[in-house]
Amino acid sequence: MNQQQTTLLETIGENLRSVKQKMREAAARSGLHTEQPKLVAVTKYAREEWIETLYELGQRDFGENRPQQLAQRFERYTQHRSWNDVNWHLIGQLQRNKVKLVLGKTACIHSIASFRLLEKVEHLSAEMGAPIRLLLQVNISGEQSKQGFHAEELLRNPARLASTPSLSICGLMTMAPRSEDEEPVRKTFRGLRELRDRLQPLVPQGTVLDELSMGMSGDFEIAIEEGATIVRIGSRLFQNCPADSP
Ligand SMILES: *Cc1c(COP(=O)(O)O)cnc(C)c1O
Repeated sequence: MNQQQTTLLETIGENLRSVKQKMREAAARSGLHTEQPKLVAVTKYAREEWIETLYELGQRDFGENRPQQLAQRFERYTQHRSWNDVNWHLIGQLQRNKVKLVLGKTACIHSIASFRLLEKVEHLSAEMGAPIRLLLQVNISGEQSKQGFHAEELLRNPARLASTPSLSICGLMTMAPRSEDEEPVRKTFRGLRELRDRLQPLVPQGTVLDELSMGMSGDFEIAIEEGATIVRIGSRLFQNCPADSP
């Protein structure tokens, strides 16, 4: 192993340990957790050697925000290098004409943002025999710029949230507003948990909304305090990594 790789292993290793430590502490503070929240390492801007270092350190859940890049990384790593125990999560916007590209490659889509998209995934996952877990992205903060269902849309149409043999709707996802203030961020995360609690009794049997995917590098501790079961963290894992290693 050369010098560069040793440094990466140390740098990313330290970042990973520190994030996990903070995750455990936040979960202990919150009292909402029976299991430790899961870390999805967001690799959308990561170099390949950073991803490989994370894998070497035992990380097995990776998040990509572009369907094309997810498909490429699945092929490169899961198919060609037999990373068979890795879950690739799609966390970014998905257009209906890209669903086919990712089915069979992604374990979980976090960004189901409309009923039309949900129906498309339902149809194709059955047709292709590619089982998939889905999270419904909700625009809790109400910002114009944000993707996602509005809470009322889900509460008015719970019957449309049926899981099928090939598709399991297993929770909700949101993004907090960018803010220096903690309060709007916390309110958004709490809002997602409260929506889940209201929605769960209304949805068809077989749909269990266990997962709350919320929290990124800047706000994951608040998210876990408010009940996040999955955090999606990118930049924090790669801080101090050499930007132009070979
Ligand atoms: C990029 C991204 C993240 C991770 O963001 P960081 O601030 O780098 O941790 C999480 N979720 C989504 C949807 C993203 O696009």
